Amino acid sequence: KIRVRFAPSPTGPLHIGSIRTALYNYLFAKKNNGKFILRIEDTDQSRLMFGAENYIIESLKWCGINPDEGPTIKGDYGPYRQSERNKIYKKYIKYLLNNNFAYYAFDKKKKLEKLRNDYKKNGYYFLYNYSNRKKLDNSLNLSNEETLEKINKGIPYVIRYKIPKYSNIEIKDLIRGKIYINYKSLDDKILFKSDETPTYHLANVIDDHLMNISHVIKGEEWLPSMPINLLLYKSFDWDPPYFLHLPLILNPIGKGKISKRNINKYIFPIFPLKWEKTKGYRELGYFSEAFINMLVLLGWNPGGTKEIFSLKELISIFDLKKINKSSAKFNYKKTNWFNNKYLQLKSSKEIFVLFKKELKKRNLIYINQNLIYLILNIFRKKCSFIHEIVDNTIFFFKKKIKYDFLCIKKINNSIKHLHKIKNLLLDVKKFYFLNNKNKNIKKIYLIQLLRLSIVGSLKGLDIFLIISIIGKKESIKRIIKIFN
Ligand code: GLU
Repeated sequence: KIRVRFAPSPTGPLHIGSIRTALYNYLFAKKNNGKFILRIEDTDQSRLMFGAENYIIESLKWCGINPDEGPTIKGDYGPYRQSERNKIYKKYIKYLLNNNFAYYAFDKKKKLEKLRNDYKKNGYYFLYNYSNRKKLDNSLNLSNEETLEKINKGIPYVIRYKIPKYSNIEIKDLIRGKIYINYKSLDDKILFKSDETPTYHLANVIDDHLMNISHVIKGEEWLPSMPINLLLYKSFDWDPPYFLHLPLILNPIGKGKISKRNINKYIFPIFPLKWEKTKGYRELGYFSEAFINMLVLLGWNPGGTKEIFSLKELISIFDLKKINKSSAKFNYKKTNWFNNKYLQLKSSKEIFVLFKKELKKRNLIYINQNLIYLILNIFRKKCSFIHEIVDNTIFFFKKKIKYDFLCIKKINNSIKHLHKIKNLLLDVKKFYFLNNKNKNIKKIYLIQLLRLSIVGSLKGLDIFLIISIIGKKESIKRIIKIFN
């Protein structure tokens, strides 16, 4: 039975790589009639961000990635929030201590730091493992009584994993194959902190096992944690799940990975956290379908030239084997292309409703259904966003035309001809303008004036197209207005 999980830490908004991880997990589960679990990894209380859990839940909802089990959905393997599972972790840390896989370490922070610095000065990386334990204190050799005494005295401690002094570790990854890690490069990772909460390493392994996870699909940045993960599985005598580490997502320049710590303009969260000024995909007017479509192809390709896939289609064709081994470049502009495609694919009625909503949001007037359908027909092919269509046609929906002052200035020269050409303007026929032989007035001025009177500015669509949409009556009304 396939069971996968998405296990974000609620330390900030989800970044693009995390959402892709969630998506691949979801597609893999659904394709195989399995379950997709959301687990909130909130053990590191110092890094939590208020509102982030809700953010994660809302983002997934917007994307249509719906968990089968999670903190707000019932399931047989809960609780799904790590902060509510401490009792469980305590039971397992006890097992590790009793069986000599872990030990209390009472090292003084200052001493540790000094050692680290000394090593650094000499160009080495300090490893807290069997080769260096002697340089620290004698935590490892304490009797149970001595350990208890120190704890009772209130001496700060952590619980560390005892890296065994034996052969190399073999990691099996579904897309990378086998990777060997030299045990000498591993340190005694902290499993439990003095505040009596587990670290990622311990909680993650215990939960994956207890939640019956069959496949762990996560970002490449977690690869360095694999040795300790596998050692823990071994210590507990549990069979590890299958692992797959997804390649990184690179920013469009192709240098540097995109990560939470390196938030730059290339990462749009789905929507901003309340106190952030940035806009997310949702606010920017992207369809979730376009976003998902862009995202899924960032590191996965079903082969062939087809590029547009609905979530349903994706579920039916998703295959882990087609995940690319190399990093993908994130090009957010490509999402505009997808959005344009979905603007055309969606039903006219759906677009109409969204368009009306946008008019209302911007306090514009709704003229009539036919006009909107006409506009949509023309603009759906040219634009990527509903709001972009409104921007391009705003003059249809404004109570008063606002004349762009700069434009008036620009064509000031022709303003003096205003009255002379009034009658010409009133006869708004394309044919007429293009064939006008009036030497006193340059054709360009005529067209600019016509545009200004109808649209209010010099930018925008073909003016004759606009006239054909709003009709002769409204056009003449607007032309007369500019003279008053
Ligand atoms: N809590 C980790 C994160 O924030 C989860 C990594 C994993 O999937 O194991 O990404």
